[in-house]
Amino acid sequence: MRILITNDDGVHADGLLALKQALDPVADVTVVAPDRPRSACGHSITLHKPLRLYTTRLPDGAEVWVSNGTPSDCVTLAILDVMKAAPPDLVVSGINHGPNLGWDLTYSGTVSAAMEGAILGVPAVALSVAWRFRRMVEEEEGPAPPIDFSHAAAYAAELARYLDAHRLPDHTLLNVNVPHLQPKGARITRQGIRRYPGKLEKRTDPMGRVYYWLGGDDPVDVCEEGTDVQAIAEQYISVTPVQLDLTDRALIQQFLEGPFPGV
Ligand code: MN
Repeated sequence: MRILITNDDGVHADGLLALKQALDPVADVTVVAPDRPRSACGHSITLHKPLRLYTTRLPDGAEVWVSNGTPSDCVTLAILDVMKAAPPDLVVSGINHGPNLGWDLTYSGTVSAAMEGAILGVPAVALSVAWRFRRMVEEEEGPAPPIDFSHAAAYAAELARYLDAHRLPDHTLLNVNVPHLQPKGARITRQGIRRYPGKLEKRTDPMGRVYYWLGGDDPVDVCEEGTDVQAIAEQYISVTPVQLDLTDRALIQQFLEGPFPGV
């Protein structure tokens, strides 16, 4: 089995190393990752400047590929060039340091890299540790310990073995979130609702000019039964099958029952 690993936290992220070391015994692993953190870049691709690709080494000595592009760019570079002669059987994106739950998926570079794999015909998994924001932990519990990627890494290896024997349908991916603490098990879930209300902070700089910070607020989850946010809240691994078709089928039906302008 050949696995392509990428992420959106950058090539130097601890989660990438943990994932690579967990998958090494399972598969022939190739890493192509962004040269810097790219969290929340969504599915952006680089069209108007040159993409560079070079090699570097991880702390364990492994040679890996690094690009100045986005996570999606990395997947494209890997599948269409680096691994052209022997394409990957699976793309695994992560392990992201933080959850990708509910509406996070629309912003996530981690999930978008997996989507790019699915678009290019390679089954894909996005993998995240559902670690709360450091600031939130420290407000409640004091200095936060380093993120523990071990549970997510172990599940990645288990999932890779499973997907080697049970290939995903074309153009689909799995969005996987693993609790930070010992998981109680795994649940197959649907995407729930996670929002960041009032996420815009308006401040004034020392020169008296207004500036803004996004994303400073705590997320608000709607914990419905069967959702990813609910599974994580109850300390279960959440596995959400995701497709690229965003169509709202119920609304198609409603519009067809009309009246609708021009239909
Ligand atoms: Mn990230």
